[in-house]
Amino acid sequence: MKVISAEDFGDSLFLNGTNRKTPVWGGIDLTFSCNMNCCHCYIPKSKEFIDRENELSFSEICCLIDELVDEGCLFFTISGGEPLIRDDFIDIYLYAIKKGLIITILTNGTLITPELAKVFSKYPNTYIEISLYGITTETYENITKTPNSFEKCLQGIEALLDNNVKLNLKTPILTLNAGEIIAINNFAKEKKLNFRCDPYVIPQLDGTKEPCKYRISPQDAVEFDFLFEDRSNVIKERLLTKENSRQFFRKCTDSVCKFSITPHGKLQKCTRMTTPSFNLHNSSFKEGWNSLYSMSLELFSNYPPEKYECSTCNKISICSPCPIDGIVENGAIGSQVEYKCKLTDLRIKQFS
Ligand code: SF4
Ligand code: SF4
Repeated sequence: MKVISAEDFGDSLFLNGTNRKTPVWGGIDLTFSCNMNCCHCYIPKSKEFIDRENELSFSEICCLIDELVDEGCLFFTISGGEPLIRDDFIDIYLYAIKKGLIITILTNGTLITPELAKVFSKYPNTYIEISLYGITTETYENITKTPNSFEKCLQGIEALLDNNVKLNLKTPILTLNAGEIIAINNFAKEKKLNFRCDPYVIPQLDGTKEPCKYRISPQDAVEFDFLFEDRSNVIKERLLTKENSRQFFRKCTDSVCKFSITPHGKLQKCTRMTTPSFNLHNSSFKEGWNSLYSMSLELFSNYPPEKYECSTCNKISICSPCPIDGIVENGAIGSQVEYKCKLTDLRIKQFS
């Protein structure tokens, strides 16, 4: 019998579009609050988002987990904000694990203690992804605006490594940390950890562009493409791909088997795509899923709208935009994102 990793199994379900109506991949943002205050954070600080009183309760989350497992969910991401700030985080995690879900936890790592790392290590179906914003206290805390956070993040990483928990590192490339990306990569190599970094800083969920002012220039972003062999290879592959926009976007829009639950009980296709959505407070997950599935199919049946630039762009495979980018950048799905257009033109020039 051939043995494959959970990641490869998940990819094969996703790419083959197996039984598209089964919500195989899902996730929950346990809270939009955080113990840090990063300058590039995509979560707005308004009351509407940071509303801790109306977050889903432990019992509501357990009911949802029961239901989504019954509907066929297998891969489940626990995220935020910072999910570990919830007092009941460990109970939620253990409940999800005991229901057989394969769990990925997205965290800033600063609240991971040796005790918590020991709990994670008991369950091999657990993957942790830590965002590491710098490799010096000065740079890291200039971004997080939180004293002592760098040391706590490193302690969290060490605790996970000491307990052999599966761990990946990732970093948004910002003007504030661009000078440390190579050192972060070297740190990851030393620790034998996978590392990825990305220069595309997204606007906040309400469309506020404040985080975008920390983007590096498209020219600098291309320099990073050359520094990382895996990134260069992806771009070279994309240059050889001949897809029109409809074919390209189908890879995302066909993946209706994905869902995301907000801290306040809204069921969405993903965290960034706030409509269509379904309020789970008064309904079952199954009802919400059926409704979201139908709404997503309808929305995507005619996607991208022809009047917008991305729908006729012959560089779409190289650019690889997310359908949501146009909405959060310009309020229109399929509209061009200036930063991505510039980056794409430079990539074509440099890699052809
Ligand atoms: S750690 Fe993540 S969620 Fe917290 S402020 Fe920073 S970017 Fe936002
Ligand atoms: S963002 Fe620009 S380069 Fe990218 S697909 Fe849209 S029009 Fe093309």
